[in-house]
Amino acid sequence: MPGFELIGKEEQKQLSHLMTESKILFRHGFDNLRNGIFKVLDFEEKFANKKNVDSALAVSSGTSAILTVLKAFNIKNGDEVITQAFTFVATVESIVESGAKPIICDIDKTLNLDPEKFEKNITKKTKAVIVVHMLGIPADMDRINKIAKKHNILVIEDTAWGCGGKLNNKWLGTIGDAGTFSFDFAKTMTTGEGGMVIIKNKKVFKKAQAYHDHGHENNPNLPRWKDSRSSTGFNFRMSELQGAIGLAQLEKLDSIVNSQRKNAKKIEKILNQKGFELRKKPIGSYETADAVIFMTENNKKANEYRKKLLNVGISTKILPEAITWHFAGDWDHIDSLDINKNSFNYSRKLLERSVALPVFVKMNKTFFENLNNIL
Ligand SMILES: *Cc1c(COP(=O)(O)O)cnc(C)c1O
Repeated sequence: MPGFELIGKEEQKQLSHLMTESKILFRHGFDNLRNGIFKVLDFEEKFANKKNVDSALAVSSGTSAILTVLKAFNIKNGDEVITQAFTFVATVESIVESGAKPIICDIDKTLNLDPEKFEKNITKKTKAVIVVHMLGIPADMDRINKIAKKHNILVIEDTAWGCGGKLNNKWLGTIGDAGTFSFDFAKTMTTGEGGMVIIKNKKVFKKAQAYHDHGHENNPNLPRWKDSRSSTGFNFRMSELQGAIGLAQLEKLDSIVNSQRKNAKKIEKILNQKGFELRKKPIGSYETADAVIFMTENNKKANEYRKKLLNVGISTKILPEAITWHFAGDWDHIDSLDINKNSFNYSRKLLERSVALPVFVKMNKTFFENLNNIL
């Protein structure tokens, strides 16, 4: 699961540097007081370098990152945005906040967006698709990008779980037109709360920068109070405290993903030996291995496995117990979704019989022994 396991002296050092040498917790200005220390700016630059892109924009959360991208591309009331049935509710909330109508597609056995269903759901109003690399396994970006190009639709990657993952050697979040990341406390790297935005089109990226900061265009020749503006915005800024922690966590990202992948391989080996069906991965997948998912015969069986696992101190993650927050077929509280009991039945059946084992950076021998004994 996550970077929070590794919070330690590197994060402390970054925070203490900020608190002794600068004490300015705002990302802009105060130039004569901050000793040249700009943690958020640094974090953005290092993140962009790491991902081989020109620039990245730090924001206050993964949810605000998605909304910022939608706003920057001027997606609004009357537009449709497609996403998948298995995701965290935040993806759909961001679409709703943009004013567009969320259109939900079934998943396939990768538990990510089914490309065929995606194409079937495209209408004249479709402006974008938000592809989710759910729990760190890449979506089938090749096929999705091709379909999107054919229909002139933007591809946005919700990379909340996929930071540090790749598909065919390309970083997740840099394959489509835009990528969003989350650094909340459960994600692969964390700043407590926080997020990041990558947009390939430079003009649109500038719009995102302004949108996340009340419309400020950050004109270098003007003081902030005289700054130029050409559209409204909001406050989704990241603070210097989060930026400082992000700098330390970014250094640990590769080793977090490496450890998770090693542990996931051990879990997969046990599941394979026991003959379980595993979640499918696309060819070229270098997943962050946030969780390992296996399928059982039905929901009853899945819950029985969960009980057995809990008895030996092994928890499950999202599936089967917390599907409600991660499956659109249960979101009858979102008016624009038109949900009924039979919505996205294929996805529901698949998810209800799945069990997800969380993968941690630190896992001891007892865990693997217990897993082997109980299954
Ligand atoms: C965590 C998550 C988000 C939202 O991120 P926050 O930083 O918690 O706002 C968005 N999409 C998915 C798929 C997530 O898992």
